Amino acid sequence: MRLHDTPIALVAGALALSPLAAGHSLENPALGGLQRRAGAGSKCGPAGGNAVCDDGLCCSEAGVCGTGGGFCTAPGCLLAFGPACDGNKRPSGADTSNTPRPRFGSVPFGVDVSSCTVPGKLALTFDDGPYIYTSALLDLLKKKNARATFFVTGNNAGKGAINDPNSGYAPILQRMIAEGHQIGSHTWSHENLDSLTPEFRRKQFVYNEIALVGVLGVFPSYFRPPYTVCNADCYAELGALGYKVVNYDVDPKDWEDGGAKSHQIFTSAIDSGRQSEYLVLAHDVQPFTVDGFAEFMIDKAQAAGFEIVPAGECLGEPESQWYRDPKTGAARSARGAGPVEEPEPEPSKKPDTTPTGTGGVKRPVITPTPVPTFKVTELPRNSTSTAEPTKGSSTITTAAAATTTTGTSTGTASSQETGAAGVARPGTFLGLLGLGAALVLA
Ligand SMILES: [Zn+2]
Repeated sequence: MRLHDTPIALVAGALALSPLAAGHSLENPALGGLQRRAGAGSKCGPAGGNAVCDDGLCCSEAGVCGTGGGFCTAPGCLLAFGPACDGNKRPSGADTSNTPRPRFGSVPFGVDVSSCTVPGKLALTFDDGPYIYTSALLDLLKKKNARATFFVTGNNAGKGAINDPNSGYAPILQRMIAEGHQIGSHTWSHENLDSLTPEFRRKQFVYNEIALVGVLGVFPSYFRPPYTVCNADCYAELGALGYKVVNYDVDPKDWEDGGAKSHQIFTSAIDSGRQSEYLVLAHDVQPFTVDGFAEFMIDKAQAAGFEIVPAGECLGEPESQWYRDPKTGAARSARGAGPVEEPEPEPSKKPDTTPTGTGGVKRPVITPTPVPTFKVTELPRNSTSTAEPTKGSSTITTAAAATTTTGTSTGTASSQETGAAGVARPGTFLGLLGLGAALVLA
């Protein structure tokens, strides 16, 4: 079953059907009418008559209300039906919704760009992080004198918000900048953008900006859609928001079958004799990639004479045009910009992190993800992938199921247990890591 067939993809369509149901219901402006509410352990979303979980609860991909990673982790948690989904948690920091979006540079806005343009340069891009392997990848890149682009996701796989000090990821992002890499946006919580209403889709862009400003002092003007899924409306919005949309022309499928075909795909691309334009997709959430394949790609590309640079550079733009100032929207270098500390939104304000329309959202306690101090050599190499391709991307499991679950355990809630397409299942190394996360890759 392909991603488009999963319940997530049905969310947008289900919104218009919103049945009125017995039991406690309330007005939900975000969903366009009265919605039946559901408590912990009850069904929600399309599987539950479009019921919306009570405040503080998440709606798992399997359609059950609860709390904890098995219910709340992005991207499985159903945003429209789970007020407390990680993807609905607004990061702290000043809103960037009204930041001006002047145009600058030579790369077009809101248009798919899939190949580099500067001869002799090759771009390696790593999606879905930062994650527990990213520091090791940065070590490798430094050793090999290679610079890359990281399309980062703000809060996926249960890792916590990237600008939350408890998550431990801010220093890794700052290191990327200090060492000459590029950071682009890969959305807040790695949803299928075409499955979301415009309101939820916009938050996927803006929330990541808010968090990145808190870490870097700027936010990216470069973007890659999760799963490479972004319809015409989505591209139009990205253009209006001043994003340069970078895809790829080499996909070694490092997420599929433990990278079984990755070496062959990359070798064939390099050996084809093309002397420029390579723009390569990979993932720093994949132990396979960080523990060997990235080095293979670097060695192969450098031996062929390529300079490995960030996507922005292989497209002919200087670093000063890769980011925006959060206030003026003007092009601004991330070097020396520094993080911006902003106060939390006023408590009296209605949070915009939930579609319930009730206000007073009970934010669940976030269990801090361990600070990523893993070394690549400690990772087992026999990870299991359950990936299925979706436009050059797919889902794998990279860590264990939730460590805490407070919803009624009926054996149906955890997305890791369903075995549905687009849903992660534990691999052989999951117990070793002991971290709650299921990553969907693109
Ligand atoms: Zn991705």
